[in-house]
Amino acid sequence: MKILVIDDSKAIRMLIRECVTAMGHEVIDAATGMEALACIQDHDVDLALMDVEMPGIDGFETTTRIRELKKEDWFPIIFLSSKTDDDAFTRGILAGGDAYLNKPIQPLRLQLQITAMERIYTMRRELHRAHQQLLQAQQELLRANEELKKLSLYDQLTGLANRRHFDEALAREFNLARRNKNPLSLIICDIDFFKPYNDRYGHQKGDSCLSKVALLLAGAFNRPTDLVCRYGGEEFTIILPDTDLAGVKLFAEKLRNAVWEGDIAHEASTVAGRITLSLGTATYTGQYQSVDAMLKAADDALYRAKANGRNRVESA
Ligand SMILES: [Mg+2]
Repeated sequence: MKILVIDDSKAIRMLIRECVTAMGHEVIDAATGMEALACIQDHDVDLALMDVEMPGIDGFETTTRIRELKKEDWFPIIFLSSKTDDDAFTRGILAGGDAYLNKPIQPLRLQLQITAMERIYTMRRELHRAHQQLLQAQQELLRANEELKKLSLYDQLTGLANRRHFDEALAREFNLARRNKNPLSLIICDIDFFKPYNDRYGHQKGDSCLSKVALLLAGAFNRPTDLVCRYGGEEFTIILPDTDLAGVKLFAEKLRNAVWEGDIAHEASTVAGRITLSLGTATYTGQYQSVDAMLKAADDALYRAKANGRNRVESA
């Protein structure tokens, strides 16, 4: 252990140093209470031997201040005093001391008291370490769960919500819209001529193109309730709660334009020399019996957008 000896008498400090180093402990010493307070800031002290009668702040006051400074970090403090009355003993324990030895110092008693305190201190330290390990393990578990949740709900390439996330969200929003009789809109869109893009530029460029389109799509929304998803391959879907037909047409046009303005070169496209988007929308106002029926309506609209020349919006 690293033991701090506090005593205004140099002779006593030397005597104690001898006793303590004989036990194999390391000693640092202080001649005043203030010096002791400075010492515990700079050193990891494991135990303190504290004189009571000192000029300046006495041993009781020093102990009180140490306990305040080291709230989380307890170590034993043993008082050494020529005052042997009950009152002094009481003050010592109440100030935060753990044992009280009388002066003149009896080396054997001092050494045995240190041994007894060391037992408690070691046990407490081990408990503390086990507790820290438990906390750390808990943190790691939380992080792993967070990561797992992210993996299960978000698409790795684009960072958008994935198919599973979409399915859950659409089912939820569909039920809400039905119950509250609110409109709900859905957009399914698809990058035009994406297979020729991959053939022409390679899959790495293809992935980077998907990421760019995802960013453009996500950037076009500012309502927290709207959800942009990667549906699969080069298909994206957007759920728009509380949005009617006129609203979704505007949104879809905005998306089409955002991707157009993104100006991602696509030499193999026969629509334009750049990446374009075909979009189909469906708006629920009570007519669809199921989520699947709504999805199919949006998908049919997308099919028409493709058939009618691509880079356009069609609505169910
Ligand atoms: Mg003294």
